[in-house]
Amino acid sequence: MLSEFELIARYFDRPQAPDGVVKLGVGDDCALLAPPLGHMLAVSTDMLVEGRHFFAGADPEKLGHKALAVNLSDLAAMGAKPMAFTLALALPSADESWLASFARGMFSLADAAGIRLIGGDTTRGPLNLCITVMGSVPEDQALRRDAAKNGDDLWVSGTLGDARLALEVLQGKSTLPDHLMTVAEERLHRPTPRCALGMALRGIAHAAIDVSDGLLGDLGHILARSQLSADIHAASLPPGPALSQQPVDRQTDYMLNGGDDYELCFTAPPEKRDAVLLAAASAKTPVTRIGSLGTGAGIQILDAAGKSFTFTSHSFDHFGKDI
Ligand code: ADP
Ligand code: MG
Repeated sequence: MLSEFELIARYFDRPQAPDGVVKLGVGDDCALLAPPLGHMLAVSTDMLVEGRHFFAGADPEKLGHKALAVNLSDLAAMGAKPMAFTLALALPSADESWLASFARGMFSLADAAGIRLIGGDTTRGPLNLCITVMGSVPEDQALRRDAAKNGDDLWVSGTLGDARLALEVLQGKSTLPDHLMTVAEERLHRPTPRCALGMALRGIAHAAIDVSDGLLGDLGHILARSQLSADIHAASLPPGPALSQQPVDRQTDYMLNGGDDYELCFTAPPEKRDAVLLAAASAKTPVTRIGSLGTGAGIQILDAAGKSFTFTSHSFDHFGKDI
């Protein structure tokens, strides 16, 4: 059986030369970081708990990817450049094949995003993965939730709803042909954090949030903080390729109320439309304009004729009534 320190050394301590920002990584009492001058440190934590965020027995490689991806998605939504992360891990046992797969999934995304593991904590307990990410963003360029403006366009990256569709299939509530389930499951298990887009939108977008709990609920956070309302054109919403084969009502429901999309929802002034499209092209990430912001409060969903129809938000809430 591996000791705690052997486990850390074997799976999580990868010797690396100091880089521009990480002066000292795993192995001391603290890691030491030197964020670029004139930048703010952006910090965010997300926890994944077995039985709550993922099924018992879930593929450890996918878990490694997802645990980091959901955190990187928060940096993306702030316009921050990924810099470093810590990993707090509770494990029922030191299962080496589990650890090797988990580390592979996590580090392949870390390497792709240019972010380094600089420390953490390891303990025995029910499986629980908690990552804290650190990024940097130039002062005054963070994409804050309270910075949306009246008259802004509302945009979303990529596509929505496929992760929710995959979850319904895994829960036995729905079925999909294999080739579509493969596509949808990839969205659920291996989300792509939109870091390049978040950074490209600095100085262009006003406010951004990542869509983790459902578009309506997450957009609601921007609106509440910015004290504004929104109109969404239902027909403009971009369905995932699997969801696009479903009846229209279901598409609209999952795009508005699904979860686990990890796309960016952001606002930008209409005169920046070309700049948004250029930023999206440079980040190789498609974006769609889905509505606009106004005064007042709440979200109106408009049909193709511009008529408002009622749609309830049932965004995910861990302490909500229906759980
Ligand atoms: P301390 O007792 O000072 O908190 P630990 O014994 O918990 O230190 O950890 C030793 C070193 O290993 C520290 O640098 C810590 O950041 C790092 N570490 C512990 N667990 C992990 C992990 N899961 N991933 C990366 N680094 C870790
Ligand atoms: Mg410790």
